[in-house]
Amino acid sequence: MHLPLSRAFSASSFHPKSCSVLMSNPTRKARLRGVVFDMDGTLTVPVIDFAAMYRAVLGDPEYLRVRAENPSGIDILHHIESWDPDRQKKANEIIAEYERRGLDRLQIMPGTPELCTFLDSKKLRRGLITRNVKSAVDLFHQRFGILFSPALSREFRPYKPDPAPLLHICSSWDVQPNEVMMVGDSLKDDVACGKRAGAFTCLLDQTGRYDAPQFDSVDFKPDFKVSSLADIVPLLDAHFDLVP
Ligand SMILES: [Mg+2]
Repeated sequence: MHLPLSRAFSASSFHPKSCSVLMSNPTRKARLRGVVFDMDGTLTVPVIDFAAMYRAVLGDPEYLRVRAENPSGIDILHHIESWDPDRQKKANEIIAEYERRGLDRLQIMPGTPELCTFLDSKKLRRGLITRNVKSAVDLFHQRFGILFSPALSREFRPYKPDPAPLLHICSSWDVQPNEVMMVGDSLKDDVACGKRAGAFTCLLDQTGRYDAPQFDSVDFKPDFKVSSLADIVPLLDAHFDLVP
């Protein structure tokens, strides 16, 4: 079941401005011309144990400290940027190893093919933004035979949650950011990137983890929240004018 923001989050955390077009005038739907997806945990089943990865990179004491300081999630790539080159190199090797192990077990997220078929039927564009490396995106494209274009990986700087990759995709499509939806499973990366760019956002929350109170006070809240990709087709149909 997909929920517009006002239903998905408590009234106190609701920012009506973010979806005023949808809520104030339901007879006139916003135009949507493209959808941009996160990859890991959104188009693919989550297989990377991020907590174990952060612990391996930071060591136990620092992991616990950084986690306490960042209740909505650790930005490990940003965190290691200030480290000296040797320490940073080791950290990147550990991250790459976790990502490699994830690739061995890569599975497409249920609902992805059907959602892409629906987008194709409406001639809507689809793009991808990931903080993973380009080789992982290439493998995803090869293994599942569904193409996302543009597909921007960690090599594109600055990466999410900066809005730059999403703005880059909008300009390469020649569409406005408010004609695009960003879909992802991370509030701090995907939703933040989408909202900063001025796009619609949809949070994929399969387990209800974002229902926890610590997420009430985050800066960026999604316009929609779904528990599976299958919920996105009816959501798009109900709330948007799908015109490429
Ligand atoms: Mg993700």
